Amino acid sequence: MNAINAITRTAEALRASLAGDVFMQGDPGYDEARRAWNLATDQRPAVVVFAQSAADVSQAVRFARSQGMRIAPQGTGHGSEPLEPLEGAMLLKTSRMRRVEIDAATRKARAEAGAVWQDVTVPAGGHGLATLAGTSPNVGVTGYTLGGGLGWLARRYGLAANSLTAAEIVTPDGGLVRTDAGHEPDLFWAVRGGGGSVGVVTALEMVLYPVRELYAGALFFPIQRAAQVLHTWREWTGAVPDEITSLGRILRLPPLPGIPERLRGRAFALVEAVYIGDVLSGAELIRPLRELGPDIDTFAMIPAPALQQVNMDPEEPVPNQGDGEFLADAPAAAIDALVALTGPDADTSLASVELRHLGGALARTARGGGAQPKIDAKYVMFAGGFTPTPELGDAVREHSRALKDALARWHAGYDYYNFEETAAEAHVVLPPASYRRLQEIKAAYDPDQTIISAHPVWSARSHRRW
Ligand SMILES: Cc1cc2nc3c(=O)[nH]c(=O)nc-3n(C[C@H](O)[C@H](O)[C@H](O)COP(=O)(O)OP(=O)(O)OC[C@H]3O[C@@H](n4cnc5c(N)ncnc54)[C@H](O)[C@@H]3O)c2cc1C
Repeated sequence: MNAINAITRTAEALRASLAGDVFMQGDPGYDEARRAWNLATDQRPAVVVFAQSAADVSQAVRFARSQGMRIAPQGTGHGSEPLEPLEGAMLLKTSRMRRVEIDAATRKARAEAGAVWQDVTVPAGGHGLATLAGTSPNVGVTGYTLGGGLGWLARRYGLAANSLTAAEIVTPDGGLVRTDAGHEPDLFWAVRGGGGSVGVVTALEMVLYPVRELYAGALFFPIQRAAQVLHTWREWTGAVPDEITSLGRILRLPPLPGIPERLRGRAFALVEAVYIGDVLSGAELIRPLRELGPDIDTFAMIPAPALQQVNMDPEEPVPNQGDGEFLADAPAAAIDALVALTGPDADTSLASVELRHLGGALARTARGGGAQPKIDAKYVMFAGGFTPTPELGDAVREHSRALKDALARWHAGYDYYNFEETAAEAHVVLPPASYRRLQEIKAAYDPDQTIISAHPVWSARSHRRW
């Protein structure tokens, strides 16, 4: 009885100090509160806090520290799969902090930590400006950007992380700091590609780019033509300008009612591309791919916010699992290996397997960049599948592992932070020099490992607790 009274008093004290909401284990609403966008994740923290403001985040962090609790910041839960178990921890949700300000004159946006990409792309697009968002409209700005952020404009403008101009962070002692190149530069460096291990981000400020419209779309071919399509695409990527970012993909769509009829239940090989330029030069650039004679051709001039429809990412929460890796190169033999394991004759649980073309600005060191200053890899692979049952989860993991093994000869040495959906430590997803610097920063700001992040950083002085 005493223990229950103590927990109730603890919850009341926390509730009283916040504008947001608190759900303890056993409270009505706890199960809904702990749910991540990725429904495969079964996270069971001791307490879920929905912060309403940076002041709430600060209060929650101070409270957790006073109770000896660790803290897992989360916006949407798109990236929930790599997290360590949250037993005994506070899940600190920022999803109610979605205010966005666009300054068209200075071409900057400030987004609160819970904003999702369409919260920024749509108002920015109204001013003829584009963000460095990824392929999905409702992935969180913060988790995506902290892990690098590889979007449709990446070959022209680089990773989203390197276009940040400031980050507002509640540090593990509960203090709120505004970091930029001149203030707390170590913290600012760490969040630009090194993940969220050094504090709880409450807002990000970023550069916007003068791109109103683009030539973009997808060419769909029957999956039986996967080898021909992917080989042609790979050769084509050898000579395209930085204004084109593209991917080659094998896609098996489930027979679900939400999917357009012409695509539902079918399997394709496809090429998706985005060109920063006009329709005439865009059409000329993609001509070698179009000459293959696709079944469906969706290329058109589209406004920048519509870019996030090109890849047809699921928008509603789904159970899913994925894995990826950087490839130093993808010669013809790598395409053959990928098609053998995932093409028309493969027995696979992978719904989508894609190779994204890197290079361009991504290959050049970003001036004043962060923990991922450039990418020494020509392609990145991502493979994923839907996992409504544990058996399907195992099958997707097994098939993506087999694909990674088959491509191991071309592995670039580390994986892409945002595409690694298994519980890998940060040294697996960062360049070695960046990981060492991040360890020092973690030791200085969070020596007790209070912050739980997608890919943990263990400083030389800390002890692993899991
Ligand atoms: C459908 C889909 C499409 C995707 N497309 C792309 C893409 O095109 N390019 C790309 O690069 N990635 C892409 N990703 C990967 C995506 O960027 C990562 O899953 C990312 O972690 C999602 O961020 P989030 O904030 O939505 O997720 P969350 O699960 O909320 O956060 C992920 C992690 O980010 C950190 N974090 C989040 N908020 C904070 C905070 N306020 N303070 C400190 N740390 C924080 C935490 O470590 C957290 O565990 C995609 C993922 C999905 C599911």
